Amino acid sequence: MQSVLITEHSLVELKTMATAAFPCETGGILVGVKARRTVWIVSAIELVDERSPRHYTVPKGATRQAVMNAQETIDARVGYVGEWHSHVDNDGPSSADRAVMRLLAWFVPHPPPGGPCLVLVRGTAGDLTVHCYRARFPRLISVSLTATGPLPASDPTTPVFTSRRSSTKVGN
Ligand SMILES: [Zn+2]
Repeated sequence: MQSVLITEHSLVELKTMATAAFPCETGGILVGVKARRTVWIVSAIELVDERSPRHYTVPKGATRQAVMNAQETIDARVGYVGEWHSHVDNDGPSSADRAVMRLLAWFVPHPPPGGPCLVLVRGTAGDLTVHCYRARFPRLISVSLTATGPLPASDPTTPVFTSRRSSTKVGN
């Protein structure tokens, strides 16, 4: 499976948010654009309603509004491409993570090419690594990340996703 592209800015954002929340987990959604047969993560958005050291879920119903906000404040071309959260113990995807991603792979309208992404920020401050997985029902596949510069202002690969996913629909 193809490498997922991610802006350097998003990598910095992910590590900064994970570090700020430590020792709790934090997370949210990923917005990006389609790039040939893969996706390009443009920004990681933090969505939190309660913090826990062992558990993170996207707040119910928050995704759609967050995507609309991102289209207004980041770039009109971006759409929902997946979810992210931190794992302070450096573990890979949990069984709960796999279950959520199976549901997303099945229920997300207009999923990004290759399936929704799960990005895990693993470890503790100073020793954080960022890992990417793709949900291709019913599997969760580990893929590499390729860091890039920012999305070009006049990139012709518009518009990308018009995902209107409501997170209530998939029960998270
Ligand atoms: Zn997890």
